[in-house]
Amino acid sequence: MTQSIEQAIATKPTFSALKCRECGETYDLGAKHVCEDVCFGPLEVAYDYDEIRRRVTRSSIQAGPLSIWRYKDFLPVSTDNPIDVGTGMTPLVRANRLARQLGLKELYIKNDAVNMPTLSFKDRVVSVALTRARELGFTTVSCASTGNLANSTAAIAAHAGLDCCVFIPADLEAGKVLGTLIYNPTVMAVQGNYDQVNRLCSEVANTQGWGFVNINLRPYYSEGSKTLGYEVAEQLGWRLPDHIVAPLASGSLFTKIYKGFQEFVKVGLVDDKPVRFSGAQAEGCSPIAQAFKEGRDFVTPVKPNTIAKSIAIGNPADGIYALDIARKTNGNIESVTDAEVIEGMKLLAETEGIFTETAGGTTIAVLKKLVEAGKIDPDESTVVYITGNGLKTQEAVQGYIGEPFTIEPKLDSFERALERSRTLDRLEWQQVLV
Ligand SMILES: *Cc1c(COP(=O)(O)O)cnc(C)c1O
Ligand SMILES: [Zn+2]
Repeated sequence: MTQSIEQAIATKPTFSALKCRECGETYDLGAKHVCEDVCFGPLEVAYDYDEIRRRVTRSSIQAGPLSIWRYKDFLPVSTDNPIDVGTGMTPLVRANRLARQLGLKELYIKNDAVNMPTLSFKDRVVSVALTRARELGFTTVSCASTGNLANSTAAIAAHAGLDCCVFIPADLEAGKVLGTLIYNPTVMAVQGNYDQVNRLCSEVANTQGWGFVNINLRPYYSEGSKTLGYEVAEQLGWRLPDHIVAPLASGSLFTKIYKGFQEFVKVGLVDDKPVRFSGAQAEGCSPIAQAFKEGRDFVTPVKPNTIAKSIAIGNPADGIYALDIARKTNGNIESVTDAEVIEGMKLLAETEGIFTETAGGTTIAVLKKLVEAGKIDPDESTVVYITGNGLKTQEAVQGYIGEPFTIEPKLDSFERALERSRTLDRLEWQQVLV
């Protein structure tokens, strides 16, 4: 008897309403994302932090599963059986060789290029969104995707036995398309850019009654990104870093890392301290970086044109909130050219053995640019978020990396090739010295 009462208390949700970020109006916990009664601002999940503080300790988290669900009390799902496909708890790698190259003392890579199951941070947001979708009774799930979200939604829907229809721009990388089709969802390749895909999906959400992870389920979905804040704090030994650098598409991830850190402070899991937030965009789609540089508090939409397709959102929903966080934390938002994106991918691969996609190349290139501009102090502990895997965007580096030596299966053929490779190395060095 007593036990079942305790269980009932333990499983009581820690979240109670949706709340408008702009005007504070509250809504019930359905599939809604805008403040339709008052101001059309975005809705966010509201929690009972006193309850979370009573319930959660460092050791209760450490005793939890090796996935994002160790932070379940901070996530908007009520079930005790969330969809757990091993998402989260990706490595936080001390990046000493990259740090030395850049002149930094304490640099870490949060490596979501190896997140499960589809090798990008999107598995976090989708695990949460589909768990909530199931609770709300949806049988078909969907998304408007720049690539990685379609991979995640299709894979995790397959695991959960949900029907799935995803929408992507028609010009995505082959790896992103194949990496969706293999799970056999319905795939709509829309002849248009992401912002057009997104507009279409808003209409479909109203007509089909599907759960769109990043539209009508967006308040739940976006909370999944907070786990990138929690994990870094836990992996650093329950402390916050001095500076983080993360990529910006809609700006959601960036704002939720911030929220994650703040929540850990609020419930007493880490000490409060200032953390600087810097954001990365590709020049060919940099509406938030442009607003930052021009001192604007509004974002002017742009038409994307960059190889960094996974972060090519021309009209970013959370752009103004990302701007606000970068400014109030004394961070920066910077952009880099596509050539720098490729150099960033190669730099991370050659120094740390991590093959990231174009979004990660963007983030590394921005890290380098900020260090060179004196905007990251060499003494700051800095965490760089690598959000996707390079095998999915192979087109980007084709022609910019070496080629194998094709040899006969004979020792002398190998030795001649080895000599040639050494000559090439020497030539490269001479070019560097000239
Ligand atoms: C979606 C995505 C992001 C950024 O997403 P937000 O919309 O800003 O939350 C960053 N990196 C990769 C690889 C992505 O797929
Ligand atoms: Zn409102």
